[in-house]
Amino acid sequence: MSTDYGFIVNDLLDWYDKNARELPWRNQSNPYFTWVSEIMLQQTRVEAVKGYFARFVKAFPTIKDLATADPDQLLKLWEGLGYYNRVRNMQKAAITVVEQYNGELPRDYHALLKLSGIGTYTAGAIASIAYQIPVPAVDGNVLRVIKRLTGSYDDITLPKVKKELEEDMLKIMPAKHSGDLNQALMDLGATICIPNGKPNCEQCPLNKKCKAFQKNLTDEIPVKSSKKKRTIEEKTIFLLECNGKYALHKRFDKGLLAGLWEFPNMNEALSIEKLESILSEHGIHEYELELLGPGKHIFSHVQWHMIGYRIHLPKHDFEWMEDLVWVTKDTIAKEYAIPTAFKAYTSQL
Ligand code: SF4
Repeated sequence: MSTDYGFIVNDLLDWYDKNARELPWRNQSNPYFTWVSEIMLQQTRVEAVKGYFARFVKAFPTIKDLATADPDQLLKLWEGLGYYNRVRNMQKAAITVVEQYNGELPRDYHALLKLSGIGTYTAGAIASIAYQIPVPAVDGNVLRVIKRLTGSYDDITLPKVKKELEEDMLKIMPAKHSGDLNQALMDLGATICIPNGKPNCEQCPLNKKCKAFQKNLTDEIPVKSSKKKRTIEEKTIFLLECNGKYALHKRFDKGLLAGLWEFPNMNEALSIEKLESILSEHGIHEYELELLGPGKHIFSHVQWHMIGYRIHLPKHDFEWMEDLVWVTKDTIAKEYAIPTAFKAYTSQL
């Protein structure tokens, strides 16, 4: 069933005029900057994104630079932001943009949607903010605000609920200032109608029209169906150290954390006795062993429960692990992208 949300437009535009956040990628008239910032902001807070954004556009000031970037340098600049497929897809899309659009993002919502890694939200954000095309940009923030506003118990994790809202929002996009309307909703969702904790309804420009506020339903809305339980994977992480260098291994090109660097590891929690026996089986008898303690990392579908060992070795010509590179701590910091999942051990280099 379609709903007319036209009643929010003027209130939101007035509010945005006075309260828009000052962000490094705003008011730049640079569609590439809008794109980079919107991709970075998925799953990441604005404050954390600011530094990443500045470093990224300094290293790759144009789409052409992104298209020809060294993939390892790209991953290094993304290190810590997580969801690394985002930056791989950006490079794929940049190559398409250079080949098909002379290095400029197309001024067309549907053409944007065809680019790798660009879904309806990002296409809507780029089209409306950078090109003033009247299309919506609906993400979890917008779904939360609108469902609270109308007191709706729709499950916002369902694709059909998002699609319906996109269709309804499309009808109310102003011919001018659609980018402002989308950004007003983004800012409102980030600063006032917040996802965790109590929303700041007293400061909200929509509070007189908001059913969730009036009926005290902000704890209940939005509804999100319970997520699937994550599987737990046990791991043992090794900081192998030899003559001031550490061993790293490159992950496979596909799957979780594809193509990133990691510390050598095994998919089980090894006791010291078991580890000593494995080392002995591989002819490694001279070493110093130190237990590094636990680490934990939560991905969307899986959790890693880790224990770690530092193993000092006098030489590294063994056949225990394959495809290792040995590098200093400084080189790791400058050149090798190690995911945050290994933070408990990176911090102990
Ligand atoms: S009044 Fe409160 S619940 Fe309603 S939209 Fe504003 S911040 Fe969200």
